[in-house]
Amino acid sequence: MVIRLKKLLSVLLGIVLILLGSVFLLHAMLTANTDTSAKRAQVSAPARQIDPARPMIALTFDDGPYTPVTGRILDALQTVNGRATFFVVGSRIDGREEILKRIADSGCELGNHTYDHVTLRGMRESEIRAQLEKAEEKIFSVTGQKTTVLRPPGGMYDASLFTLCDQPIVLWTIDTMDWKHQKKEISVQRVLEQAKDGDIVLMHDLFFPTAEAAEELIAELTDRGFQLVTVTELLTYRPETESIHVR
Ligand SMILES: [Zn+2]
Repeated sequence: MVIRLKKLLSVLLGIVLILLGSVFLLHAMLTANTDTSAKRAQVSAPARQIDPARPMIALTFDDGPYTPVTGRILDALQTVNGRATFFVVGSRIDGREEILKRIADSGCELGNHTYDHVTLRGMRESEIRAQLEKAEEKIFSVTGQKTTVLRPPGGMYDASLFTLCDQPIVLWTIDTMDWKHQKKEISVQRVLEQAKDGDIVLMHDLFFPTAEAAEELIAELTDRGFQLVTVTELLTYRPETESIHVR
């Protein structure tokens, strides 16, 4: 009787162990699946090849993010698998974390445009450093990415900026003046009548006419054979570009 009970117990124990094992295995499989799909979602931008022999242009957007405008620009870029550079203002990020992450995940480039959008020219070095670091920390805390380029607000800076920052300082070759006129047609015309290989276009992802202009320009420039690249890509393939100042 005792032997039979022992046998029964060991069989029961065996069943329990098998069940526990299956649950563990199932859980492990499900977790593995979730991990993979999360990773896949993060690398959402499809691969692309830049042809150095073909013309390229860098669209740049300052002063954002602003979800409804930045989102439309990203949508338009996605349809042609193009990239752009977004010079982000640190103080504008709170409440707009999702769109900032989307910029980062889309393969577009993140640039530093200070924390409070202040003029760096004439500013004390400690203040400049604080502005750049605060913006950098904010962007990194949301996206896990560091900025690769810097654009001083208004394009104004002293030579001392080169000693404070080792990033390329990026200006522009075509200024749409979109913030001033806020008219889609004017921005589109200014770019299309000047656009040439190696240009850097300045726009601001704060205004709806800029979103409309960007949508039209992204389609039209692509039709005209331009590759839409980030500033860093432009610097790689067109190092002679005059509007990027490297220490
Ligand atoms: Zn600005």
